[in-house]
Amino acid sequence: MNDHRQNLKQKQNQLFLFFIVAFAILASRFFYLQIYRQEQYLRASENNRIREVILKPNRGLIFDRNGRVLVDNHAAYDVFVVPFEVQKRDSVLRLTAKILSKTVDDLKARIKKKQIGLFNPVAVQSFVDFETLSKIEEHKLELPGVGIQVVPRRFYPDSANAAHLLGYVGEVTRDELKNGNYSNVRIGDFVGKRGLEKFYDQILRGKPGRKYAEVDALGREVRTLTDRPEIPPVPGKNLHLSLDARLQRMIELKMENKAGAVVVVNCKNGEILALVSKPDYPERIFSEAIAPEQWQKITSDPRKPLFHRAVQSLYPPGSTYKLVLAAAALENGVEPFSKKFNCMGAFQLGRKSYACWKPEGHGNLNLYGAIEQSCNVYFYQLGLETGIEKWAEYSKKLLFPQRTGIDLPDESSGVIPDRDFLDKKYGKNRWSKGLILNQVIGQGDVLVSPLQMARLAMIIANRGEFFPFHLLHYIEDPLTGEKKILTHKSDHVVGISDRTFEVLRQAMWRVVNGDNGTAKAARVWGIEVAGKTGTAENPHGEPHAWFIGFAPYEDPEIAMSIIVENGGSGGRTAAPIAREIVRTYFSSEFRNVE
Ligand SMILES: [Zn+2]
Repeated sequence: MNDHRQNLKQKQNQLFLFFIVAFAILASRFFYLQIYRQEQYLRASENNRIREVILKPNRGLIFDRNGRVLVDNHAAYDVFVVPFEVQKRDSVLRLTAKILSKTVDDLKARIKKKQIGLFNPVAVQSFVDFETLSKIEEHKLELPGVGIQVVPRRFYPDSANAAHLLGYVGEVTRDELKNGNYSNVRIGDFVGKRGLEKFYDQILRGKPGRKYAEVDALGREVRTLTDRPEIPPVPGKNLHLSLDARLQRMIELKMENKAGAVVVVNCKNGEILALVSKPDYPERIFSEAIAPEQWQKITSDPRKPLFHRAVQSLYPPGSTYKLVLAAAALENGVEPFSKKFNCMGAFQLGRKSYACWKPEGHGNLNLYGAIEQSCNVYFYQLGLETGIEKWAEYSKKLLFPQRTGIDLPDESSGVIPDRDFLDKKYGKNRWSKGLILNQVIGQGDVLVSPLQMARLAMIIANRGEFFPFHLLHYIEDPLTGEKKILTHKSDHVVGISDRTFEVLRQAMWRVVNGDNGTAKAARVWGIEVAGKTGTAENPHGEPHAWFIGFAPYEDPEIAMSIIVENGGSGGRTAAPIAREIVRTYFSSEFRNVE
């Protein structure tokens, strides 16, 4: 019996020991899990579920002068992944990559490049189409940590193309973040890259807000946390431009299949009414996912469609620049009626002959006749008498090669070669008088921009008064409707008399309206137009066709410059475009805006 009891007791003890040990093991595990790891689990799940959500502001819209929308916002869809959720799940990455037609390595590289921490969603593909969206939805149970978000994208209604002028937005790069002035911008955000989108980025962009939300494993919001206050985003401000979309559109069609630029400006305040640059590109290529082949085609096009010619291109001005030489001569005692030179079709200097554009010659001309018919031989001789110093000095007085200060990025400034420039380029006194002959009629090393030539037309139209060029008329707060109208101070050319401007104005009237004028093609019934043509020789084939001018003659409202690259004669190619501009601008439909 004792034996039996002892045996039982022993068994009980063993069992007890077993329980003690088992309990100890469980308890320690429990302790490990509940106490030691608790903090880590908690932090992970809290970060995972409760997320700071950035509320992106709407970017400001862009309107033309009559309230037509030029740039709007539309909804688009991005596919995003949450790095924390997908980092250990190769199957998720594989399936996502397959749906997006990417490789897993591409996808990983994209996540790495754009991620901010582990819990912020990273957009791995923008502007996805409906098919991709439905595939992601279909497989959502196999794709934890992958989702779709609605994002605003730029949209361009068809009112005008104006691609260069409006510019485009794109994802900010790390370099831009480092070097640029981008407050409140994070990787993955969109900023203005070119044109007005870039110039006024700060105003258009707005300020992001934030809230705290509970999200599920797909990164979708389950509920907003009310204990932490939400900061709403501040939308960007709207830009109202001086541009007239109808005029812009009309000129774009006239310039179709041509290369060159057109500037139309209001003489009385410097407002840009149209600014056309061709060739261009469809704006929407930057608001959709652009295929690499399409991008390649645009960037490798020898006609350079991305280049904003109206603002960035420099051209020899050709005979339009005879006006500058005429101003220099008039200010230095030349009498316009009595100053005469004979044109026999060419001018002999030393052993070389310099041709007029009219081989049979213009005969005996005064300054008016020489401008009206654009006689080279007259201006060769006037140039030799006036001298390159005066020519350069009056170029400067007429603001060459100063920029116009237009509110667009990357404006070029031009080249007005003076004596120092030529000494440096060709060696001291190593350049000939023949070189000067070419230069004073706007050939050789002289380079100007279409904007500068429109400014020259404005200066002459206004007898010396000018305004800084600008596209922005006013800024509008979309929340309050409050308008901030920008004012621009006028300025006046220094050191050129009213009388000189009057002679130039009259001569430009004769270019269009005189019996022998070179720009008869710019005449418009009922509106007096004044102008000057140019046919600029250049090393790239046919000469460039120029026209600069203003209308109406008595009390000018608009000034313009037109250049058609390799267009041949200015009178034949550019002047008819001027006629269409004047006809459209002064038509009754145009003036009565609906
Ligand atoms: Zn001639």
